[in-house]
Amino acid sequence: MSDTKLVELCDLPYPELERFIVEKLGMKRFRVGQIWQWIWVRNVSDFAAMTDLPQADRALLSERASIRWPSIADVRVSGDGTTKFLLELADGEHVETVLIPSDAPRRPHDAAARMTQCLSTQVGCAMACSFCSTGRLGFRRNMTMGEILGQVQVARAYLHDTQPERPIIRNLVYMGMGEPLLNLANVMDSLRTLQHPRGLAFSPRRITVSTCGIEKGMKEFGESGLAFLAVSLHAPNQRLRGQLMPRAAHWPLEELLAALESYPLKTRERITLEYLVIAGVNNQPEHVRELARICAHLKAKLNLIPYNPTPDTPYRAPTPEELLCFEKALWAKGITAIVRKSKGQDIEAACGQLCATHEAQAEQKGA
Ligand code: SF4
Repeated sequence: MSDTKLVELCDLPYPELERFIVEKLGMKRFRVGQIWQWIWVRNVSDFAAMTDLPQADRALLSERASIRWPSIADVRVSGDGTTKFLLELADGEHVETVLIPSDAPRRPHDAAARMTQCLSTQVGCAMACSFCSTGRLGFRRNMTMGEILGQVQVARAYLHDTQPERPIIRNLVYMGMGEPLLNLANVMDSLRTLQHPRGLAFSPRRITVSTCGIEKGMKEFGESGLAFLAVSLHAPNQRLRGQLMPRAAHWPLEELLAALESYPLKTRERITLEYLVIAGVNNQPEHVRELARICAHLKAKLNLIPYNPTPDTPYRAPTPEELLCFEKALWAKGITAIVRKSKGQDIEAACGQLCATHEAQAEQKGA
């Protein structure tokens, strides 16, 4: 049978896997849970290694299905422990994912160090934010559920093979390449798969999906309760938002904020507003006043992320003093503002940077 007819099992949410295994392949229903665990918990992609399945079932699976994870095209480890992967997908496209060590001090009962992983959801991005390398790549295509979660499986295998301490991936943020709400069906399937009790059993409280503010999909995502929401604000007024995030600004800021006011939140849950601090652009006293007005109406906290400079942009990172001054001014207005350290600056860890470098090198070679 030709390779193109193989069914990719890591693209199937549990109910679809069940239909394929039971109805199409005629295998017993209890085999579905076993196969699910081999794929998601044991991270095994070779059917021959699925030793609790009968030989005949393993042979049938090899004939009709495949489990293909992305391959690692490049990996860079920063002095601060941040690890960035350039992954190659089956069709030769590339995406990035980043592992970030937890800042939280290890507690005595913690068996292993903890990591946060940043996941991509699209190859390239259509949103064209002016500060972002991915935005300059343009949109190529949506990632499938298997490709989104393949990032987690590749990182788990890498940590298992390379780090004697075997750190665990504790938190996931959908904040890499692409706009998650523009690939909503695959993103929601990936969240359900991550949280499946017979699989990785991730708590929704450990997953955040970050959007630049897409009207279509926000309500459906909020009602699903599958993850926390973070919104990339980056500008406290429509004019500046139009300059920094021209496509996101098609949905007027006023309307985005009104949607966030009625966004369904659980008790004690707050929306995270991401704010990339770009020196001289969005950290001025008038911006503090505008942010105060915005935050007064929302159950939200503000994450301040110092801009991580990327080539070919007119922007500059704030100095530590500028950042502190901005943070203090926000606190003085009663805003909960927390500075998130920018990590991996020595390994091109800003979103899309490694991919852009890879493409430029490939172009040079082809020239
Ligand atoms: S910041 Fe996010 S939404 Fe904007 S272009 Fe980059 S990847 Fe897309």
